[in-house]
Amino acid sequence: MTDSERWPIGVFASIDAGLGVRLDVARELGVTAVHLHTPHRKWRTPQRAAVGGLHIGFVPHDRSSAEYWQILAVASHACDDLARRGQALHLETGQEPAEVLTAFLADVERPNLFVNFDPANMILYGAGEPLPALRALGGYVRSVHCKDATWSDRPGETWGQETPLGEGAVDFPAYLRTLAEIGYAGPLTIEREIPQEPVRQKAEIAAAVQLLDRLKREIAAG
Ligand code: MG
Repeated sequence: MTDSERWPIGVFASIDAGLGVRLDVARELGVTAVHLHTPHRKWRTPQRAAVGGLHIGFVPHDRSSAEYWQILAVASHACDDLARRGQALHLETGQEPAEVLTAFLADVERPNLFVNFDPANMILYGAGEPLPALRALGGYVRSVHCKDATWSDRPGETWGQETPLGEGAVDFPAYLRTLAEIGYAGPLTIEREIPQEPVRQKAEIAAAVQLLDRLKREIAAG
């Protein structure tokens, strides 16, 4: 793989859930990799379901609790169902500290279970420093979000604040270097959840594309 093929820049968008960015904006920004949120239940059909990634909910931190094994059964069932269609399940990070998530992934023990790593969610939920978590999850990481955030002054009790890329607590040069370290070469999907401010959202995503392009060039140059 050449440096220009590594890490295509993408955006998070949805068909009808009002999440991420509108698809026409992605086209205007020249972004061709799109991580698409599934259609709402009303419009979903077996052909359009395309389930691939989700927040499964809060995995209980206590492995001896009944809830832990219930959520494990749900994840196992979803993986087996997807496997029959040749698909994988990517759990999005954020709600759990890395050690809880790695233990859960090992307990579910399915070859098509992976992680969508979102460094900002770790910060928003107060679930631990993102880069050590990324290293710990390593080979499980098969897709990533590029989103930024600042910590809450009471992590784990109140939410942090999502920010434009590069203005929060995620160290993006180190994030990309860590992705290289764990062998991740897939899309860098920019997520910016301010659909209520479309003009600002487009400008901030355009700035994020520039920032990530610059970092990619710097890392490729060594
Ligand atoms: Mg995300």
